[in-house]
Amino acid sequence: MIVVNNLTKTFRNGQLTTTVLDRIHLRVEKGDIFGIIGFSGAGKSTLIRCLNRLEEPDTGRIEIGGSVITDLNERELRLARRKIGMIFQQFNLLDAKTVYQNVAFPLEVAGHSKAFIRERVREILDLVQLGDKGDMHPSQLSGGQKQRVGIARALANEPDVLLSDEATSALDPQTTYSILELLKDINRQLNLTIVLITHELDVLQHVCRHMAVLESGRIVETGTVDKFFLQPESDTARRFVSIID
Ligand code: ADP
Ligand code: MG
Repeated sequence: MIVVNNLTKTFRNGQLTTTVLDRIHLRVEKGDIFGIIGFSGAGKSTLIRCLNRLEEPDTGRIEIGGSVITDLNERELRLARRKIGMIFQQFNLLDAKTVYQNVAFPLEVAGHSKAFIRERVREILDLVQLGDKGDMHPSQLSGGQKQRVGIARALANEPDVLLSDEATSALDPQTTYSILELLKDINRQLNLTIVLITHELDVLQHVCRHMAVLESGRIVETGTVDKFFLQPESDTARRFVSIID
């Protein structure tokens, strides 16, 4: 579903250049929940933002669902992004809009009819168990409910993949658990491919099947989550695993 080859990203601030992603190779199979773990500053957010070109990679090729993202022009990229849902730590909801309007928004942008949108929003709010919250505003919701709206919005256009950047980091453990369960359900029901970025081992352990470890912009280890816990190979993996021992 996702193939990344030789992805490099450098930021320039005046004289200073920093290579934040260094020749990344990645392969995520359809229907997987793939975790990317790394300490703060490792380049996780930059990597996930490069996947839909919210950041422009310097080199490399990114393919998602058969579409070569790195070859697309602006117009093609806008269309391709509809098939790449994204959720964030800070939810990024439109506070002036209701829950219904937040979820309807990407469908309006995609040009669907009012009747289609009504039907689709109802269906997707039911899926995230917010069927009765359509008229509320984000400020009236708990953190977990806000993230459910974020998930509903991300799923509105039936994406091929869902990218999650620390989506549970602002939530308490119990709410984190319920959001992770929801992501697992969605993965099962829709066979949706999920890429989940985290600095929390629990999250990785709870939902992911395959994973990669990112350390200073490099992937230093990749494989199944089970292997990561049983035989961590990289320094970063050992440090993560020893933290919970
Ligand atoms: P993570 O999500 O793993 O914490 P990030 O991808 O946010 O890491 O950041 C990785 C590195 O890239 C950090 O050193 C950060 O300071 C740097 N960085 C991120 N965005 C920018 C930017 N727009 N300009 C310059 N440096 C950046
Ligand atoms: Mg980050």
